[in-house]
Amino acid sequence: MGPGPSDVHPRITAAMARPTIGHLDPVFVGMMDQVKEMLQYAFATQNTLTIPVSAPGSAGMESCFVNLVEPGDKVVVCQNGVFGGRMKENVERIGATAIMVEDEWGKPVDPNKLEETLKSFPDAKIVAFVHAETSTGAQSDAKTLCEIAHKHDCLTIVDAVTSLGGSELLVDDWEIDAIYSGTQKCLSCTPGISPVSFNDRAVEVIKNRHTKVQSWFLDTNLVMGYWGPNAARAYHHTAPINALYALHEALVMLQEEGIKNSWQRHMDNHLALRAGIEAMGLSFVVDEPHRLPQLNSVTIPDGVDEAQVRSRLLTEFNLEIGAGLGSLAGKVWRIGLMGHSSRAENIFLCLSSLEAVLNEMGADINTGVALSAAQKQLSS
Ligand SMILES: *Cc1c(COP(=O)(O)O)cnc(C)c1O
Repeated sequence: MGPGPSDVHPRITAAMARPTIGHLDPVFVGMMDQVKEMLQYAFATQNTLTIPVSAPGSAGMESCFVNLVEPGDKVVVCQNGVFGGRMKENVERIGATAIMVEDEWGKPVDPNKLEETLKSFPDAKIVAFVHAETSTGAQSDAKTLCEIAHKHDCLTIVDAVTSLGGSELLVDDWEIDAIYSGTQKCLSCTPGISPVSFNDRAVEVIKNRHTKVQSWFLDTNLVMGYWGPNAARAYHHTAPINALYALHEALVMLQEEGIKNSWQRHMDNHLALRAGIEAMGLSFVVDEPHRLPQLNSVTIPDGVDEAQVRSRLLTEFNLEIGAGLGSLAGKVWRIGLMGHSSRAENIFLCLSSLEAVLNEMGADINTGVALSAAQKQLSS
């Protein structure tokens, strides 16, 4: 129950153990088409350029930036946690300028600040932001931020590593131009693959670049020779065959559950955990309307050695929870309810073991009430 990787369903690890066939094998090529189709379903998009990048979420981030940004461009980067800082790094390493819109950690990106910034920088080309900030547990309003960006003629790059599968995400309806995600958060798959999607507007920008994409490996023009529609399926790199079996199975499971049901399950389980946490007398850092159901930042009671709590949960109860980062370090625990980890048995394990450890350490919490509060919420 950390901030990812989440628990991997046994069906997914079993899929991974299938024999490794060639990356040009017709059976494998057929599976590639299914993966692309199922990713379109997950992202709620018709974008043809919707593919899994053969590397973790950070490579999906880099793929969006290196393909869309050229040296000298101005990119507005909204930062309200760790991952916005990485976007800035990406922009600067390309030789472009990052214009920062900063919000407090634990708060969503402020649309008014974005609007003001875009008025001051009319030549900005792209707006980039994180939909679900895993480092804090805050969710930003992607639809509104995209509307503002488009009003000022900017393309959008959206980090959906933690939102995909866990919270509402509608790439076409919200007109997101480029988006990347990861496999190990709410898709509950093994780490190492990054689904990305680019719409026609973004593809147009990539086609009309003045300079070569600085990364050979991530250049979508080359990658599409292997992954693209009607592509020759020419060798670009050896696809991570078994990791893609795993992603395929994860996406089959997402379709079986239904994406809306998956969003709802994440919300229902978050509400049950919340009921227990609050009954214990602990509270949440992020204001309710912006709280991520899949990543719960919970305040640490006074006088408690937070690292010792995490270590005891791990060694005595086999339960991992995450530490706070940046300005929230030492102030919060980050409890993940992502993908296959988001289920009732984990809520009860977390509440009961946290209560036991905190009580023994002499923390000022309410005991004997958390489990029934969670149960009441689950059956409501
Ligand atoms: C996990 C995460 C990433 C990075 O993904 P990796 O697979 O670790 O490279 C990027 N952005 C967000 C919001 C994340 O939660």
